[in-house]
Amino acid sequence: MQEDAFPEINYLRLSLTDRCNLRCFYCTYWQEFQKLPPGEILTYEELLRLAGVAAQAGIRKVRLTGGEPLTRRGVVQFLARLCQIPGIREVCLTTNGVRLPEMASDLYQAGLRHLNISLDTLQRSRYRRITGQDNLLEVLAGLEEALDLGFHPIKINCVVLKSINDGELLDLALLARDRPLQVRFIELMPTAHRRQWQRHFMPIVEARRRLSGLGPATLVASSATAGPARLFRYPGFRGELGFISPLSQHHCLSCNRVRLTAAGKLRPCLLGNSEIDFKGPLRQGASDRLLAHLFQEALHLKAFETGRPLMKSPWTGAAMASIGG
Ligand code: SAM
Repeated sequence: MQEDAFPEINYLRLSLTDRCNLRCFYCTYWQEFQKLPPGEILTYEELLRLAGVAAQAGIRKVRLTGGEPLTRRGVVQFLARLCQIPGIREVCLTTNGVRLPEMASDLYQAGLRHLNISLDTLQRSRYRRITGQDNLLEVLAGLEEALDLGFHPIKINCVVLKSINDGELLDLALLARDRPLQVRFIELMPTAHRRQWQRHFMPIVEARRRLSGLGPATLVASSATAGPARLFRYPGFRGELGFISPLSQHHCLSCNRVRLTAAGKLRPCLLGNSEIDFKGPLRQGASDRLLAHLFQEALHLKAFETGRPLMKSPWTGAAMASIGG
């Protein structure tokens, strides 16, 4: 693949922790999941240093993810410092929303505005089935609190699960009718049980077909740091709907992101095997210059990852919770 076929890499996802307070069945093999020892997770100081290096290499957007980033102590103070790094224009957070009711206000005051909340269902028993926990009411309360506080944009990430939530896509979409939300439907990736994936995968084109009753959709142009979602406006909607199809319409050529795992490894490509270790150099006293050089290498590596579609290549085994989904 030609290096110059790629867009500018301006988006870094930081996995703050591999710990999570939910157990979504599709995320990983939880029985076999081995948490990182605490000392193996990058400290906030290390993360801030890397974010500074990344900003100098052209990163403009940073997303905090995990695991569940809001389970890590000190995240609000960390976020406030991250927002101060010169060059970083957008700081975003991806959360399951369980802790939002108690944390949304502090996060807003720390400078956060961009929020992604993962929510696959509006039904309590189904939520328990998917996540293993009974936290739907907290998530919905957190969403309302975030809207009241004025977070914008707020995106709802909904993984489409055939024969689990596919009968509910319209209800989920309607969240964006009366509220200024972006509801994004995402294809299930085979990151955990292969058989479960085969049973529950639904191509995004089918999800769109089921929403066709909403009327004619108008494609919305996306910004330079936007992700892979194709965004649409529907008649009478305050918000928008987005569709993300990592499998059926693989999007290497529009991918502008790299990921730093909780263990301090930079993954140029979610689907590829390469990782560049930053924790070792950081802890061995590497200079900013060396870190910047390593970061540039990772960006170059991205151009050489083939990024084959997951349907044709086996998942490499790393959990979304560790990589930062
Ligand atoms: N805990 C946070 C959350 O729930 O948003 C951040 C981490 S979670 C791994 C990030 C996103 O990855 C969630 O929206 C989750 O639904 C999604 N995800 C996890 N496993 C996935 C899979 N197999 N296919 C598609 N999306 C997945």
